[in-house]
Amino acid sequence: MIRPIVLLGDPILRQKAEPIEKIDDEIKTLINDMFQTMRDARGMGLAANQVGVAKRVFVAETGRFWTAFVNPRIVEASKTEEVETEGCLSIPDKTVKVRRPSTVIIEAENEMGVHFRLACADWDARVVQHEMDHLDGILIIDKALES
Ligand code: ZN
Repeated sequence: MIRPIVLLGDPILRQKAEPIEKIDDEIKTLINDMFQTMRDARGMGLAANQVGVAKRVFVAETGRFWTAFVNPRIVEASKTEEVETEGCLSIPDKTVKVRRPSTVIIEAENEMGVHFRLACADWDARVVQHEMDHLDGILIIDKALES
């Protein structure tokens, strides 16, 4: 089921999301819905609070992976940084330049509860960092560089 995407101004986007204790049917349904919602909106990533649920899960679909990240943690980030233009499904029609580490290592569980560790570079790294920020209530406008 496609869920409505929460837009800038809704306080849930500023909330720190809660860890998921158990991947039950409700969470599995949420993840399925998030994949559908992301695809429908042609996004590369979507965090749960963007559909109004303050839980620590996001989905991402890049050229390299298509997966759910439950209780994700960035365990390593490069000192090297890159600046790129980003948009956000919750802030339509706005793009800003954001500086981020070029590569990160992220750990999470997938929708089956299987723990995984993923080294990300380029857009993959940017997408997972953007979505991690959502789970901590941080938006691209907070990080926007003067252009
Ligand atoms: Zn976003």
